[in-house]
Amino acid sequence: MERKAIDLICSVAELTSLFERQKSIEEFLDQTVNLIAQHMGTDLCSIFIVDSQSGLLFLRASTGLNPEAIGNLTLKPGEGITGTALKELRPIILPRAKDSPHFKAVPDLHEEEYEAFLAVPIIHGLRRIGVIVCQQRKVGYFSTRDARALTAIAAQMAAMIENALLLMELHGERLKKKPETAGEIPPFLHGQQTTPGIAIGRSYYLGRSGADSLLSWDSTVQYRQTLEDFRQAVESTKRQIQSLQKQLKEHFADVGSLIFHAHLLMLTDKAFTGEMEQRILNGEAPEEAVASVVNNYIRLFAEAEAASVREKVQDLKDLGHRLLLNLTRDEGETEDYKETIILTEELYPSELIKFAAQGAAGIVLHKASITSHLRILGLSIKIPMVSIEDKKLFTMQDGIPLVIDGFHGTVFIDPDDETRDRFVQLAKEHAELESSTKIEPEIPLSDGSSVSLLANVGLLGDLQVAAGYGIQGIGLYRSEFPFLIRNDFPSEEEQYRIYRRIFDTFTNGPVYMRILDMGGDKQLGFLTDKAESNPFLGLRAIRFTLKNPEILLTQLRAILRAGLNGDLYIIVPFVSGIEEIQQIRRMMNSASAELTEQGIEHHTSPKLGIMVELPSTGFILDELADEVDFMSIGTNDLVQYLLGVDRTNTSVSGYYEPFHPAVLRFIAKVAEVCNVRRIPLSVCGDSAADKFMASFLIGLGIRVFSIAPGSAPGIYEWIKNKRDVHQHRDFCRHLLKLGSSQAIREYLDSSRA
Ligand code: PEP
Ligand code: MG
Repeated sequence: MERKAIDLICSVAELTSLFERQKSIEEFLDQTVNLIAQHMGTDLCSIFIVDSQSGLLFLRASTGLNPEAIGNLTLKPGEGITGTALKELRPIILPRAKDSPHFKAVPDLHEEEYEAFLAVPIIHGLRRIGVIVCQQRKVGYFSTRDARALTAIAAQMAAMIENALLLMELHGERLKKKPETAGEIPPFLHGQQTTPGIAIGRSYYLGRSGADSLLSWDSTVQYRQTLEDFRQAVESTKRQIQSLQKQLKEHFADVGSLIFHAHLLMLTDKAFTGEMEQRILNGEAPEEAVASVVNNYIRLFAEAEAASVREKVQDLKDLGHRLLLNLTRDEGETEDYKETIILTEELYPSELIKFAAQGAAGIVLHKASITSHLRILGLSIKIPMVSIEDKKLFTMQDGIPLVIDGFHGTVFIDPDDETRDRFVQLAKEHAELESSTKIEPEIPLSDGSSVSLLANVGLLGDLQVAAGYGIQGIGLYRSEFPFLIRNDFPSEEEQYRIYRRIFDTFTNGPVYMRILDMGGDKQLGFLTDKAESNPFLGLRAIRFTLKNPEILLTQLRAILRAGLNGDLYIIVPFVSGIEEIQQIRRMMNSASAELTEQGIEHHTSPKLGIMVELPSTGFILDELADEVDFMSIGTNDLVQYLLGVDRTNTSVSGYYEPFHPAVLRFIAKVAEVCNVRRIPLSVCGDSAADKFMASFLIGLGIRVFSIAPGSAPGIYEWIKNKRDVHQHRDFCRHLLKLGSSQAIREYLDSSRA
């Protein structure tokens, strides 16, 4: 058919009336592709729409492609010619699609004989909605005039499609044609990797407040019915919790001691179980009595003013859940969350430990609730975690099979056998690789120097992992974890015992003990009833400890005592000026003097240094060098504060650029001053585990890296195979010349090739 003036024929009115006549967006899209194909005289017309959850382009309608592909074929932004048109927000006209470097052959799509290709993005405001694609057998069929016409149509369709999608979302409908496995939830959701690993299990939603926190019993289950049964269930529950508590204390000597304290306290409280007994005596079924009493307490706790009381809501539900289970099962089973994947919009650090102890396979968090300490904790206890933005996932019914791919941040919902088997195999391979890897803690370089790999440690459990890999020192001990997880201040003796374990494990290497770094997103629930409006700029770390000198003195005493015969470095976080480090040195000296006076053995000459993580430090490096024995660059916070980007806010994660020229030049300046002033310098932020960053740092002359133990094997292999210091220096010099992130990205891409 001859091409008509499509830009005139396909008027707004025509499209609008077409839209109004259709019952669904699918029908509208089907009619639209027919209309466009007809007017354009093309053999084939397709529409791809962006899925708001996964960000993928889904083929939604097509006149000529294999109908099987509709609703199933997906492209990533930038993938193929279609993905490129959307990514680059421009029409693409190609005389022969197959000649384009972007061409992607999709098997079974039946597009082989089509030569000419025209792709036009559908954009509404700043939002990318989709792409219209026309294809023709005849080479060179499309002209710029066609592209203009199709662009006009795309503009007309954009708002209609977007509104239709919104309406569908509101009505809980999904765009996908094929029936979905778990109600309205798509087969997979892509989010953010929080902690690596693979988990396979069934969903369990953790309610938080109001109705979704309440405990309910399962009407299809036969609960035991007598008062005696109930009393036995209480006794079993007590024994199970005591045994869990004991296990936790053994595994997590630093943080495990009071984790189930609240459970035990409630169980022994006569008012709690007594009221249940009374209800059973009055004729209520035991399961009903348990749920009613637990729910009354939940309501009471949920409304409490103190955050520390509100935090107990989950303990109550957890306890009720266990009581109900014990009304149906035998004593021995304690792993209540075995093969379970917990879905939650919020998670406290203590809960993470609790669920892990009770056998949970993995965690899916809502993206707004990821905090850096949850991530660090997840790494320590090796529980795969993914954070997902789409709230719908958290409305899903319990018991749906899930697979978490914590390496890529993906959750598969009700996966088919093939997907499941693939992940079972991957998990196996990963475990084998982990158990067989060993590293040399000193990696010699061509100039006679060597790189030391030290470990970042959050929980004592990391010590064994680090030692297992062959690491011989701790470059950062994040001492806030026992405080955070127990939600309490451990006494000097408790801290001493925890710290002692570190020095006992690492008798030869250095141990960098960081003093309490709380605040920001590492909030202590029992202290933070009054929320700060800008916690990252608030009473964080040293600001808190200097304001509470008794807490600081207790910690310094415990550190000095524990480090008696060790190679002790004390590291001060969040330092912005020299006065803070001077104050800490005075406090350290007085803690030491006090201990001497009391005749208590301790380390009398530890090295004292700072985390370089605030921009101000870059301008007073010489003055700081006069005050410290060493410095350590904390890139996690340095990037956050230098670039003004919240490290936990995924909406701005694009701005969180460890390779931003300002960051690289800042680090180079610190390295230069430390080199001139002979101040030992290390890097302990996560980006030290990135191979390009490691190369850059080596090029600058930095030789001590402290990283999460799990990252050690990868970076070890990389450095071991690149011992030539000249290469690292050239790489570093080149990076420092580049003044834009874009140029740096391109250079890194070319180095990767
Ligand atoms: C850092 O800020 O780079 C760092 C290592 O400390 P944390 O991640 O504990 O703030
Ligand atoms: Mg920091």
